[in-house]
Amino acid sequence: MSDHDKTIYDFDTDLIYEYFGSLERQGPGSPEATRKALGFIEGLTERSRIADLGCGTGGQTMVMAQCVPGHITGLELSGEFIGIFNRNAARLGLQDRVEGVTGSMDDLPFEKGSLDLIWSEGAIYNIGFERGLTLWREYLKLGGYVAVTDACWFTAERPAEIHGYWTRHYPGIDTIPANVATVQRAGYVPVATFTLPAGCWTDNYFAPGRAAQERLLSRYPGNAAVEEFVEAQRYEARMYDKYGAFYGYVFYIGKKI
Ligand code: SAH
Repeated sequence: MSDHDKTIYDFDTDLIYEYFGSLERQGPGSPEATRKALGFIEGLTERSRIADLGCGTGGQTMVMAQCVPGHITGLELSGEFIGIFNRNAARLGLQDRVEGVTGSMDDLPFEKGSLDLIWSEGAIYNIGFERGLTLWREYLKLGGYVAVTDACWFTAERPAEIHGYWTRHYPGIDTIPANVATVQRAGYVPVATFTLPAGCWTDNYFAPGRAAQERLLSRYPGNAAVEEFVEAQRYEARMYDKYGAFYGYVFYIGKKI
């Protein structure tokens, strides 16, 4: 297998967590995009219960907490990320209504029908877009919202190189209209869909990534696994430079009825 064929699951988890844990966010996104998506959510109050699934270290969770009322539970597989998440919440004085817990997004620790909003940026791909939307629906109240970002194709067809890259890394990747149909099929009214601007990748994801790669290389000089991992990150950025017109992250907001 060449380095470029390796997916994130082929690397050591300690290395993945060390690298991504040093970034403010672990996927493409921005405070502006988070706030824009929140603008479509109606009716939140101090009593609202919100879950942010696959929250990482909580970059987007803290933005949410500063914009909307209610209690937010961040759920994340990595205990290390949850440690950083809870320290971030405390540093911002949000610890009374923002709490990070470890767990898996396909085994939610919430009561059925208890949530007003389920949020998930750049993480639903871990369990699949349709599977996640379907599983999560029963945890929402009637009239509750789901808001997720996922990597999607912008066009019906695309060059073979980028098609092959994404098919290896995320076989479930689909087009925007197909995903909107999935939102509806999973039992939600598709309320809004918008693509994230390129800066969410270039400025907010790849640029901090470059600095984190340098830190990793200087911390582990001559370590082949680290070099391979860094090369895979750099290849991802080169793919985006070349083919960013054909794919990107998209916000999907749906309302349970
Ligand atoms: N939402 C954050 C992190 C996105 S990266 C952001 O936008 O910055 C995806 C996150 O999902 C990682 O932190 C990863 O550890 C987490 N994850 C992967 N599988 C998961 C699962 N089954 N349950 C919960 N979290 C998971």
